[in-house]
Amino acid sequence: MAKIQMKTPLVEMDGDEMTRIIWKQIKDIVILPFVDLKTEYFDLGLKHRDETGDQVTIDAANRTNELGVAVKCATITPNAQRMTEYNLHTMWKSPNGTIRAILDGTVFRAPILVKGIKPFVSCWEKPITIARHAYGDVYRDTEYRVEGPARANLVITYPDGRTESQTIFEFTGDGIVEGLYNTDKSIEAFASSCFQYALDTKQDLWFATKDTISKTYDHRFKDIFQEMYDRDYKEKFEAAGITYFYTLIDDAVARVMRSSGGFVWALKNYDGDVMSDMLASACGSLAMMTSVLVSPKGVYEYEAAHGTVTRHYYRHLKGEQTSTNPMATLFAWSGALRKRAQLDNLPELEAFADKLEKVSIQTIEEGIITGDLNNLLDREDKTIVNTEDFLKAIAAKL
Ligand code: NAP
Ligand code: MG
Repeated sequence: MAKIQMKTPLVEMDGDEMTRIIWKQIKDIVILPFVDLKTEYFDLGLKHRDETGDQVTIDAANRTNELGVAVKCATITPNAQRMTEYNLHTMWKSPNGTIRAILDGTVFRAPILVKGIKPFVSCWEKPITIARHAYGDVYRDTEYRVEGPARANLVITYPDGRTESQTIFEFTGDGIVEGLYNTDKSIEAFASSCFQYALDTKQDLWFATKDTISKTYDHRFKDIFQEMYDRDYKEKFEAAGITYFYTLIDDAVARVMRSSGGFVWALKNYDGDVMSDMLASACGSLAMMTSVLVSPKGVYEYEAAHGTVTRHYYRHLKGEQTSTNPMATLFAWSGALRKRAQLDNLPELEAFADKLEKVSIQTIEEGIITGDLNNLLDREDKTIVNTEDFLKAIAAKL
């Protein structure tokens, strides 16, 4: 059989531990036999990041900006214990943080839904994609414990020395106070990534804040989204038959719980943090959650939402069989191949990406699963297999 051809290479970012092992298995078992795979390989494994002074992460992100599509394996974000384990020169920053800073993107997360694994919210028939604004607000706050009595002021100083000042609160006793910020530039990048992604995936876009209470801060988010929609996206949305919808955050939560899914839900930083964990646990497993970083320029980086599955890796090193779920990593590959196919106009490659996802879901629906899905899949006859045999079952269908 002639292999499916590619034009432009994907940026391939290899990673760590169990996911590094799965990475190679996915390529060998379900991609390379069918696709004449073209990638530019960057080894983001912790050892190589350390050897290159983390330059490899920066190079991979810059190359992604040039080529347009990347696929990334999960990577270790070092902590004190990893310093000794890997004998590191420095406690390198999170690769995802470094890449996000270079691409200036927004992360979209969506569960992979399969029949037989019912979300805890029974009306969700289609996946809900969460877009979290990953900049500012409470994650970059300034805060004090106040020993009252005391007055807390908020002061803005302009370059010409002019100031504006408001009293936040007159403390009569002890208390707490916090300062938050965000920038128009970051909110605009977030908004355009969300509009772009909704168009790409032909799904409605919902956005929610608390603008009735936060009349300047949250209201600015609402205004930026609305202005950008009216100016740049209204016609495109109408042509695609999708809608943009703004509502209050509490109303959005209530509606989401009664919806059938199938839309993109854009959220401020804190709301997105909380709601993405809600979504992941309501859908059963982190191993079934996909993730893609979309930059406002339309650059895409696909990955799994989970980490390097360290506990399984240590068992693997001891020679034990592990049954780690490769679905989210496999969907990172299929997502990247599909996007590459669309950009390069390669219908055969696009069809392959669709088929790869379809037969993976089918494999689970027919009862061939990895161990993590045992308690989730509602079916009598189940066969729990190791990662390699799971991938081989998919390849057989391909
Ligand atoms: P994790 O790797 O996501 O694993 C947490 C637990 O979730 C696992 O021990 C396993 O539970 C279960 N799990 C996750 N993915 C699974 C899969 N594909 N199949 C089966 N079970 C799965 O999170 P972590 O242990 O907190 O972090 C490990 C390392 O990953 C850390 O060094 C962290 O820095 C890194 N990390 C990287 C990324 C990224 O690159 N995007 C994201 C998060 C974390 P059981 O052990 O109970 O089976
Ligand atoms: Mg969280």
